[in-house]
Amino acid sequence: MSLSQVACSIAESPTLRLNEEARLLRERGEPVIHLGIGEPKNKTPITAILSSAAKLSSGDVKYTPTDGLPSLKKAIIRYTEENYNRIVSPYNIIVSEGAKQSLFNIIFTLCNPQDEVIVIAPYWVSYPEIVRMVGAIPIIVTPEDGGFVPSFEEIERAVSSYTKAIIVNSPNNPSGAVYPDELVANLVELCESKGIYLICDDIYHKLVFDGRVPAPAYKFTEKDAENTKVIVVNGVAKLYGMTGFRIGWAVASRRMVEVMTNVQSQTTTCVSPVMQAAAEGALTGMQSVVESLRLSIQNNRDVLMQELRTFTDVRCTRPGGTFYALPDFRAYVRKSVAKDAVELSDFLLKRSLVVTVPGCEFGMEGHLRLSFAGSVKDITEGVERMKWALDPNAPSEIYIGDRKLVRDWL
Ligand code: PMP
Repeated sequence: MSLSQVACSIAESPTLRLNEEARLLRERGEPVIHLGIGEPKNKTPITAILSSAAKLSSGDVKYTPTDGLPSLKKAIIRYTEENYNRIVSPYNIIVSEGAKQSLFNIIFTLCNPQDEVIVIAPYWVSYPEIVRMVGAIPIIVTPEDGGFVPSFEEIERAVSSYTKAIIVNSPNNPSGAVYPDELVANLVELCESKGIYLICDDIYHKLVFDGRVPAPAYKFTEKDAENTKVIVVNGVAKLYGMTGFRIGWAVASRRMVEVMTNVQSQTTTCVSPVMQAAAEGALTGMQSVVESLRLSIQNNRDVLMQELRTFTDVRCTRPGGTFYALPDFRAYVRKSVAKDAVELSDFLLKRSLVVTVPGCEFGMEGHLRLSFAGSVKDITEGVERMKWALDPNAPSEIYIGDRKLVRDWL
């Protein structure tokens, strides 16, 4: 069979593959604990349910304008003003099928083949693949100090005459790192002086802990929506726990939005009006839902950190936001059970029925991404099972479901 080389070179999304594996195991009745999944457990906000239900029961579910329903755009304009202190017009906004499609449209719209896009490791799995999909080249910048935040100089050194864009995701999936304001300010200045686009994937921007309020990139530019190089991507998936509604949006210049709209008109036409109504309901409803999610996730982060501290050879940088941590499991990769993090993650799934995501998928070998978006019980039990499987100092017997298991491999 002769298929496209580009298409065949695109890796399967590892997180979606793991979700499927966990689903199949659960279907067989296995007591799987899912520390891999990037979605909060909260129910859809009631205002989102009511507004999408009203749209559905109207029976008037038709195509919408490709770039989004005017009423949803109005809600996004208000959101941008309230959260970013930026006034934008409807021409600066395009609504897409999730932030993932927004990012694809942006990269497709910006890049010619062979253009370069700087991606900072650890990075969200889809960035390099999306860049490759459009024939451009991802240039990965990995912090030399082994941490999760590169220095400005490290990023600046990666810039070449082919650089089209830099993607910044802070708070960061998978590390939970929140980039310092100074780094963001320097990146805005660099991009605006060199004509490089700064794509800010802000999907976790309100899930920040310990009272910190990071400054958005917009704060560091005097240029208006038409002239700034800053592009902001957002969505309802993470902040409102609405992953299944598939609504994301981009705020960019009018020309960029025009081109992205043409691209979208030839691919998905528009997003379902039922889902757009749901997003509008979430954005215009009580915003306390986001704050309660943030507080419960911050508590989960504290529980996870406490549990990990009792794991003999695991080191973990405290996440400042999101619902992910990226602990360093290199001690266990070297020692006994696995030659790399992929094998370690497989080992944990087989032996202890805990789903984790290997760090190499995010450009960080030897680490495992753990999600703390679930329940406290999942976190404590999940880490206990991992300790049992890996840590010789942990008790060698454990109950998983109603089965008593004895460790005999350490
Ligand atoms: N960006 C990042 C950093 C993400 O973690 C995700 C979802 N995992 C997305 C974008 C995509 O969000 P959506 O579900 O809205 O497509």
